[in-house]
Amino acid sequence: MPRARPTPYALTPAFGRILCVSAHPDDNEFLIGGSVARWAREGREVVFCLVTNGGAGTNAHTPSPAGLVPVRERETREAARILGVRELVFLGYPDGVLEPTLDLRRDLTRVIRRRRPDVVVCGDPTQRWFGREYLNHPDHRAAASAALDAVFPSAETNAIFPELLDEGLPPHKVRQVLLAATTEPDTWVDIGDTLATKVAALRAHASQVGAGEWVEPLLRGWAERDGKRAGVRHAEAFKRFDLNGT
Ligand SMILES: [Zn+2]
Repeated sequence: MPRARPTPYALTPAFGRILCVSAHPDDNEFLIGGSVARWAREGREVVFCLVTNGGAGTNAHTPSPAGLVPVRERETREAARILGVRELVFLGYPDGVLEPTLDLRRDLTRVIRRRRPDVVVCGDPTQRWFGREYLNHPDHRAAASAALDAVFPSAETNAIFPELLDEGLPPHKVRQVLLAATTEPDTWVDIGDTLATKVAALRAHASQVGAGEWVEPLLRGWAERDGKRAGVRHAEAFKRFDLNGT
């Protein structure tokens, strides 16, 4: 019997708060911008947490990234405005040398306990490479690994990072996790109505994409590839965890 085609996934209406954790200022725009724009249009509160400062995004500012960091912050604010993101959290770690340390796990646990998201979106820390063309950036793996460890067990457990209780931040249980940029997708979000918004948001990162003529065909190609799996024209793909069966 042929396997049924997966249908596009609609986030449950009960999930009103979404936290997206990324290593670099433009990662969300490349990977999940269509879904983010859709969720924002649906009235959900989306927060971006950017772990590094993006200072290693080009070689134009070597050896000091000082000139690039404020440019990237400005671009990130504009992209977030285009997507409808409610709030940005900049953790400010140096770009390119990120490790999944306990300090980073604590920082992300603090962000989760403050914003109390229903859903956390991050990368897939197990992805060492994609095909024969791309060795996954170590910052992507580090940020994703620390984010998952923050979701479980740190965010929901009193005894882990007790100093956060002293900061007035009680435990919080995240209900769902969505991993982007995975080779094991099982969940597809229809972005037919928001692909153009995603393109505009990524093009706001001019220090990274230049004039950005290639952005639209690249993102459209990815969206068509992922859309085929779910029977829609354009989609973004995720691996989903429903924590505690919710
Ligand atoms: Zn990146």
